[in-house]
This record gives sequence, C-alpha cells and structure tokens, in this order.
Amino acid sequence: MSATTPFDLSPPAPPLFNQLAASLTQDERDVLLEHGTESPFCGVLLTEKRPGLYCCRLCGLPLFLGGTKFDSRTGWPSFTAPFNELHLAYVRDASYGMVRTEIRCARCGSHQGHVFDDGPPPTHQRYCINSVSLAFVAATDPLPDKLGRGMPEGVVWMPAAT
Ligand SMILES: [Zn+2]
Repeated sequence: MSATTPFDLSPPAPPLFNQLAASLTQDERDVLLEHGTESPFCGVLLTEKRPGLYCCRLCGLPLFLGGTKFDSRTGWPSFTAPFNELHLAYVRDASYGMVRTEIRCARCGSHQGHVFDDGPPPTHQRYCINSVSLAFVAATDPLPDKLGRGMPEGVVWMPAAT
C-alpha cells in the first residue's frame, strides 16, 4: 500500500513530549509509556459508535476511523483497519511467551495495543487497542493539535465522501 498523509509525523521534541506525558493520568501513563494493558470491559470507548476519529491520547495523531470499529467481544476497542498505515508503527513483541505484533503511535511512539489476523472481512485484521491510549473526536469536532502543527490538526477533519 502506497500511503501518504497530510499529517506531520515528525516526533515531538523531548520537552514537549515530557510536558504531554506529565498531563496524562497514571492509568494512561501505565499503558502509553510502560506498555501496560488495561483491564477488559473497563474502557469508556467500548460503546462509542458515533462517526469520528480515534486519536493518540498523547500526541493527538488520528489512528483509527469510527467506521472501522467493531464489537470483538474481547472487552477492548477493536478496529479492522488503521486510519492511515503511516500513522502506526508495527513492532514485534515476544513478551509473555507469545509472538505478537505491537501497535504504537508512529509519531510519539506511545503503546496502543496489538494487531491480530483473526478479524472480520474485508481486512481480517483485528486492531485490539486500549481505551486509555485513544481520545475520541466526533466527526463534527476539530481535531486536537497538541503539538501545535496546524492544519489538518486543530480543524474539523472531513473524511472523503464514499
Ligand atoms: Zn502519538
């Protein structure tokens, strides 16, 4: 897939990264920075079904589209596809005696969850993501611009009509 993105993917400078990290709750820090996993069925985003974007909790980069979310019954928000391939980093994770593919935000490196190949058609991918790693932005609301990058951040993202 030859992907391009209008978003600026250069990482935040360390002082800004540290400032954003300091604004997180302890639960958010445990997952985003320490690669923890939240308990299933506790996430506030599980029942979210409105159109919109799911953005990185730390840096605000859009990671998933509302339309790709599905009920995996695992207790974690699950998606069939990324918002943009370039917005995710895929990292081999051999912890806990399993080989899995970890998902991180491609811009700030924060831990999001894992991707598995047992999802529904058409992609058969299941992006299993922690609620605390994401911030939901309704389609009618402006995107966050936590890094001060400017458009398309800070404005309403209008997905292409399908
Ligand atoms: Zn991020």
